[in-house]
Parts: sequence; C-alpha cells; structure tokens
Amino acid sequence: MPHVMISSKKCTGCHMCELGCSAWHEGGFQPSRARLFADVNPTTAVIKGHSCLQTGCAKCQEACPNDAIVTRQITVTPAGTFAGKEKVGESVTGVVLVVDEEKCTNCGDCYDVCPYGVIHEHPERKVAYKCDLCDGDPQCIAFCQNQYVLAVDLKIDKADRALTVDA
Ligand code: SF4
Ligand code: SF4
Repeated sequence: MPHVMISSKKCTGCHMCELGCSAWHEGGFQPSRARLFADVNPTTAVIKGHSCLQTGCAKCQEACPNDAIVTRQITVTPAGTFAGKEKVGESVTGVVLVVDEEKCTNCGDCYDVCPYGVIHEHPERKVAYKCDLCDGDPQCIAFCQNQYVLAVDLKIDKADRALTVDA
C-alpha cells in the first residue's frame, strides 16, 4: 500500500509538510492540525517523523467498534518540481484507510492505539481524522523544501509493487 514517510535522517525540521497538509485539508496554515508531523527534540536536535502507515498498520481500523475506518482505492502521483524527487511522475495504485464520518461516534478508541499519534478528534467536526494521501497528490511531498534530499517520500509495500503503473 502507498503511504508517506518522513526520513528522520534527511528531515531538517522545517515543518513545511505540516503547513502543506493543514492548508490542503483545513484551508489554512495550522500545523497543529496536520495529519503528519516532524517531532524535533530541542535539546538533542533529533528528529522523529510521524506519519500513517495505512494498511501496513491498521491498528485504528482493528480498534474501531463501529467499522468507521474503511479502505479506499487510490492512485497516488506525487507532484512537484524540486530536484531529488526521483519518484515524481510515477504512480502507484493501492488502498488507504479513511474515516467514514457518518459512522464515527468519536469514541476515541483509535486515538489510543495509534503508535504514531496521527489520528485525532477533529476540533470542529468532532470525528476522527487522519492522513488520506490528499486524493493522490500528497501535499507533504509537494511542500517538502529540502530541495536536494527529499525528506518526505512515498513508500510502497513490496506486495503492492505489482500494482505500480509507470507514468
Ligand atoms: S473515534 Fe471514530 S473512527 Fe475512532 S474508533 Fe471511535 S468510532 Fe472508530
Ligand atoms: S492512523 Fe495510526 S493506527 Fe491508524 S493506520 Fe495510521 S498509523 Fe496505524
């Protein structure tokens, strides 16, 4: 399955991915509402990326008592013009986990089990929200400003490589 991942070695902690994510989903630059984040330790400068592994994890889906986290087929084609984005132009089809807001009761079970802390209660809609790969053009990848060493990248499970479609 396709998912995005922040390279803890390459990330500079600029938080542009969080700005892009929140702008696309929430209509404003609100990194506190981003669906992925770079956790920068101010003392050690160690950076730890947090992003959803989608069906490679699925702990939220397993925990949901209302079957409110469902799979959706998606074709992902990361866009952008920066050097070093070697995957730009390639597409992959797979599935992502999305929240069915009609079914979600905001019980919080999924918030407790997510190992990466990337599924939360939406402050206005009062339902769970998470990464959905931006309908196929992940904005975290598009916004990553590390021009020569892409720090947010599209990862594909070995099992899904057969589904890869070259652009
Ligand atoms: S908060 Fe919603 S999506 Fe999460 S476990 Fe509860 S019903 Fe399911
Ligand atoms: S939101 Fe969290 S628990 Fe659910 S699949 Fe993603 S990483 Fe796993």
